[in-house]
Amino acid sequence: MNHPAIPQYRAPFSLCLACRHFENHPKELAVDVEGTSTREADALCGRHRALMTEGVCVLCGNRWPWVRLHAKSGIGACRPCYIERFGEEATLEVEARWEAIERAGG
Ligand SMILES: [Zn+2]
Ligand SMILES: [Zn+2]
Repeated sequence: MNHPAIPQYRAPFSLCLACRHFENHPKELAVDVEGTSTREADALCGRHRALMTEGVCVLCGNRWPWVRLHAKSGIGACRPCYIERFGEEATLEVEARWEAIERAGG
């Protein structure tokens, strides 16, 4: 029997979300490799999961997150870590976008 593939929230054996977004070195598997959990923390590897649970930057664990993966995400990185990964220009672009949103909203 040939069943159509069931669409999944995440692909099986998914990599840690934070590793995928922020890390350059070898990426680690998420705690929930099957992608069955709906908790965001389970989409992270052990190291990133621990830091996210504490609410700090998932990269250094020393500062509060400056940017998050998306509006409702608990996964965040501080500004210095973001600059380190994506460069100063990308960081300023993010800030310019936020300012534009604030101006439009206020
Ligand atoms: Zn990770
Ligand atoms: Zn950091």
